[in-house]
Amino acid sequence: MNAPNDAQFLTQLYIDGRWVDGALGRTVAVTNPATGAHLADVAAGTAHDVELAVAGAARAFRAWRQTTGAERARYLRAIVAEVEARRERLAMLQSLNNGKPQEEAQTDVDDVIGTFRYYAQLAERLDDMTDEDVSIPSTEYRARICREPCGVAALIVPWNFPMVTTAWKLAPALAAGCTVVLKPSEITPLPELELASAIASVGLPAGVFNAVTGTGADVGAPLVAHSGVRKVSFTGSTGVGQTVMKTAADTLKGVSLELGGKSSIMVFDDADVDLALALIEAGGFFNSGQMCSATSRVLVARKLAPTLLARLVERAERIVVGDPFAPGVQMGPLVNRAQFERVRGHIEQGIADGARLLTGGGRPADAPEQGFFIAPTIFADVPPTSALWRDEIFGPVLCVRVFDTEQEAVDVANDSEYGLVATVVTADEARGERVARALEAGVVWVNTPQLIYPQTSWGGYKRSSVGRELGPFGLAAFQEIKQVLTLRQPISQSI
Ligand code: NAD
Repeated sequence: MNAPNDAQFLTQLYIDGRWVDGALGRTVAVTNPATGAHLADVAAGTAHDVELAVAGAARAFRAWRQTTGAERARYLRAIVAEVEARRERLAMLQSLNNGKPQEEAQTDVDDVIGTFRYYAQLAERLDDMTDEDVSIPSTEYRARICREPCGVAALIVPWNFPMVTTAWKLAPALAAGCTVVLKPSEITPLPELELASAIASVGLPAGVFNAVTGTGADVGAPLVAHSGVRKVSFTGSTGVGQTVMKTAADTLKGVSLELGGKSSIMVFDDADVDLALALIEAGGFFNSGQMCSATSRVLVARKLAPTLLARLVERAERIVVGDPFAPGVQMGPLVNRAQFERVRGHIEQGIADGARLLTGGGRPADAPEQGFFIAPTIFADVPPTSALWRDEIFGPVLCVRVFDTEQEAVDVANDSEYGLVATVVTADEARGERVARALEAGVVWVNTPQLIYPQTSWGGYKRSSVGRELGPFGLAAFQEIKQVLTLRQPISQSI
């Protein structure tokens, strides 16, 4: 499949109901990670555009906050229909700009649809929950808890799951009655702008939804600092998340942060080895390992280690790496040169630190020359103090260590500054439950793939998150709570 030409991409900002060029006319170049080729020049917003977008969102908030949940649900369902109609194009842009194989890109579109559908339901339920009577020890007064939208929300998202990370914020924010300014990653604006166009086409009032592409420094930072923004929902690296939280402190706005991870998959000696291998492979190499939820630490019971490792290496070497549009390709490139160099640096440092490279480590022999491809890579005997073991690599790199006892496995998994997810593979149900409860992680999968249902929750412990997304928690992140206490009798009678 050939890349569409520049004219077929959306490249403008969407502010206050209109597609516009950035106020200063700047652009940012977007590349195809599978070929290194230039794809488009996309408008790069600045503080001027942020100002216009926040002003539009603040104006729109006055009326939008008065709409009923049922009205907002109708818009969310219209977005579902529009995304469904554009499914192929959204998946194509995702593969082109991010490098995900087509099948993975389709999964992301399904996730967007599922998320908007779920929050449409929740928006409808809000109409019953908005004024909730609370039982108090008084017959004289009536106490109510009201849930209200918190105001203009800034949604700042990364490049590794464009559209999905957007949907996880946007759907609950709109459902709650907030107006929003979305800031997609400057690396993957093409699918995000197509999604923005799908949203723009459903007739939301001007200013309810705004999308300002551009860099973190020029768009993200002024958005976070803006006094008109009442909530920042950020997904990205832990370092930038810390900066966001510090900046938000100046105006004391609410923040939700979804950050990095360094997660473990633990394979106990009673595990179904075929299942374990499938889960290790998916947890390490899906999206070329560019996942906050990558289970890049593989902890294996000593008894299973020799067989499991040999079979894991065999499987990794069979993974088809290449052009994301080619049939049968299972793993695409890393997202850009900077990411490619970063992961290569981690691999070289790992070797220098004494980790044993079992397979991979460089470009796959038959991958396209100019693309940013790295072969599935597996290390054993990784020193627990090394960066390879402790830092988020964000590439197709697995680090294996053996363990002798359940407690040792739990301790090693918990010995991390992060605490996003974990996977446990065991035939013993009681152990699965025990280990799941002992892990310092926000999501634990026991004998299951990394399935994420919008009805549940997303987020982690420690330096992985502040707050939670998805489920009712994701909606609550965009709400204020108001208590209203009233006299039950007319005032004249009670005095
Ligand atoms: P990043 O932190 O570099 O950028 C994320 C977003 O923040 C981008 O839109 C960027 O332009 C913007 N940004 C940069 N500097 C900013 C600033 N000073 N103020 C405001 N915004 C700024 O992250 P990335 O490289 O795009 O994404 C990869 C990271 O995201 C990884 O660490 C990964 O673990 C994390 N991530 C976490 C989750 C999760 O749910 N926990 C999900 C996906 C990705």
